[in-house]
Parts: sequence; structure tokens; C-alpha cells
Amino acid sequence: MTNLYEVARKKGIKYFLVSFTDTFGVMRSKLVPTSAISGMQKNGAGFAGFATHLDLTPADADMFAIPDADSIIQLPWKPEVAWVSSDLVIGGAPLEQAPKQVLKNLIGKAAKAGYVLKTGVECEFFLLASADQMCHSGIVKKADAMDTQGKPCYDQHALMRQYDLISRMCDYMEQLGWGPYQNDHEDGNGQFEMNWNYADCLTTANRHAFFKFMARTLAEEYGMRASFMPKPFAGLTGSGCHMHFSLWDKTGKKNLFVDSKGELGLSKLAYNFLGGVLSEASALCAITNPTVNSYKRINAPVTASGATWSPNTVSYTGNNRTHMVRIPEPDRFEIRLPDGATNPYLLPAVVLAAGLSGIANKTDPGKRLDTNMYETPDAKAKKLPQTLHDALNHLEASKGLRASMGAEFMDSYIKLKRGEWNRYLGQVSAWERESYLDT
Ligand SMILES: [Mg+2]
Repeated sequence: MTNLYEVARKKGIKYFLVSFTDTFGVMRSKLVPTSAISGMQKNGAGFAGFATHLDLTPADADMFAIPDADSIIQLPWKPEVAWVSSDLVIGGAPLEQAPKQVLKNLIGKAAKAGYVLKTGVECEFFLLASADQMCHSGIVKKADAMDTQGKPCYDQHALMRQYDLISRMCDYMEQLGWGPYQNDHEDGNGQFEMNWNYADCLTTANRHAFFKFMARTLAEEYGMRASFMPKPFAGLTGSGCHMHFSLWDKTGKKNLFVDSKGELGLSKLAYNFLGGVLSEASALCAITNPTVNSYKRINAPVTASGATWSPNTVSYTGNNRTHMVRIPEPDRFEIRLPDGATNPYLLPAVVLAAGLSGIANKTDPGKRLDTNMYETPDAKAKKLPQTLHDALNHLEASKGLRASMGAEFMDSYIKLKRGEWNRYLGQVSAWERESYLDT
């Protein structure tokens, strides 16, 4: 096992962020000096679980974050600090509802069946005016006032106005060995996307979590705010987190989704995996689209650019961006449902859970649809949930996901998310006042 103290001495690391991501996607840490890291590597850093979103009480014993030394990332912008993703334990046993634990359990199940899930994520985000500016105006504004094109996607000028930030993040990903390969201005004014290579799903999950931390931190240095909120502006395209996924053999060298004789070059196993994902779509939506705001991105009316680029039905297709799942090339699927709020660990976990049950049950995904779902929606295609509340009802009813994601996780997730829904119901919005004040 990598000795963190030795690594620190060689690389000039003074502090470690012993870090974990809670159920709501909040990254939490203790900043530990190198002099104390050996003890932490053995026993973990202590946290009061109730102070995080993990469904623990103030009476529960301390939980400990044990650093996963292989996940170490030396902060490229502050090399005296290193980040390590941790595993949570309580009373000497893994905390079963912790997102990374849920993913690791699923990875273990897949490994037993001889499979390795590989994923790549496409993180979309908005660059907004800094929080200070927003507090004064009370209005969320994009950072670049000149970014106003009706069809802003790939806008070279707007991209290059953010060159300093975007190129810096891309250089850092290069330095970290992630294999970044493209950066663009996305379809909403103020919206960007940066892509790096796919990897095994745990590596991608750690990178996904770290990417959000990096984007937010560096944007602040430039007086901006990087937001992964699913739908910050009603009339603009929302921020998705499309995930490309494929199942490989246990050596990680052979892609089991590939079959040159199969439909669109994909194997029976691939279609069974997809069948599982589609059959659980309404339920897994509560995890891929985990906030009240998420449901304003999917099922949305057409945006200023002409398309939402997000799905509205449980359907799959070939190379067509109007469905929930796309087959971009004959080696993988792209699920276009998840949004920027999705938990980096729970996203691959729930797709793997549904896919493995699809394989076990030989689930048929049905025929693909090749229509433009925005213009000529197929009436037979099942609609996605309209609200977080609907999706949670589906999740709660899914016996399959309960068995594969674990009862501890399902109970805590549903409880915490129902709490969030109830807090939302307690709000009175500007729209309600506009519509009903004079009724
Ligand atoms: Mg995109």
C-alpha cells in the first residue's frame, strides 16, 4: 500500500485533504498536516456524521474517513496540499449508505460476475458572476456580459474570453494524467464543457468529484462562480452530466459491449445491460437527477438555442441526441439523463446496479427509436418522472434497486430526499405571487 507520509516527503506535500463526498454531493474534508498522516492512514480522520448529509444522528459514534492512498491528487495549483478520497467506517464497519461504499459494493458484485464498468463523464457548468455580485443584485448573472448569442454553442469568442481559466484547468488535467482532449462553449450562454478520457468507474468517480472542486476553486480565483446546477436559467439549456459506459472483462482489456455482428455493433450483453437501465429509468432518475431543480432540465420546453439537449422519455436510439440513451459509436452507450447535480459515486453505482440486473434477467430493451423526439415524439415512449417526488416514489418501489444498492442506502437516501422535497413545498415562489396575488 502506498505510504502517504513517504509520498509527502518526496513530493513536498505539507497537508492532506482527507476527503469524502456525502449523499447530497457535498465534498467534506479534514486538513491534516503531513506529520499526522500516518496515524490517519491507519485509523482514519474522525467526523461527526450528523453534521453531514449521511442520515446519522448526533448520538451516533464518530465515523472515520480512511484515506484511499491510490486516489491521491496533489493539487496542481497548490502542490503543498494533496487530496485523498476516503472510505467511511463507523464502529469498525463500512458505512453502507456512504455513496462511495455503495459504488464499491457494486464494483465488487460486477467483479464477481467477471465484469469491470468503465465510464466517462461530460461535466457541463456555467461560469457565473461571483457570489458577491449576485448577493448585491439578488439575480444570478453569467460572468461574461458579452456572451449573448442566440445559438452560443462552440462560440469561439466566448470560449477564448475564458481562456485563462479553461486552459489552466486543462493543463492541470494533462499534468494529472487524465488525458483531457477537448473544451468547448456549450449551448447555454455562459456554459462550458471540458472532456477527459474514460477509465474504470471508480477512477472516473474520483476525478469527477475532484473536477467539480477544481472548477469551483479556480473560478473563484478569477472572480467567478462555477455552477453545476441543472437548470439555473429557465430559458437556457441546462447542465447535463452525460455518462458514457461500457462493460469490460475482468482484465479490463476486452470491451464486452463490442460485437461486430450485433445491432449497431453492440453485443447481446450490452443490450441486456441497457434493458436493465431502461427498465429502472423512472427509479434511477431520482439519483441521476437528484434535486427539485433537476426536473426543470428534463421534460423542459424548448430553450432559446432551439433545443434542450435533454431527454423527455425513456427511450434509446442510434446517433441521435433527443433520447435518454444514445449509441454514439459501436462500443458504448451514452446516458443523457444525468445532470450536474448528480453524485459522482451514485451515478455509476445506479447505472451498474440496473445494468447488472438487466444482464441477470436477460432484459430486452425493445426496439430503438430513430425519431426526433423534440419534433415528433413517439406516443408509445414512456415519459420520464415530472418531479423529484415522482422519481422518489419510483425509487422507493424498485425492489431490484433496493436489493442491489442496499437497504441502508435506499432508506437513508429516500428519507433525506423526501426532506428536501418537503422543504421545497414550504416555499412560496415569485411565480406564485405573480400568478395568484390578485386571484
Ligand atoms: Mg455537452
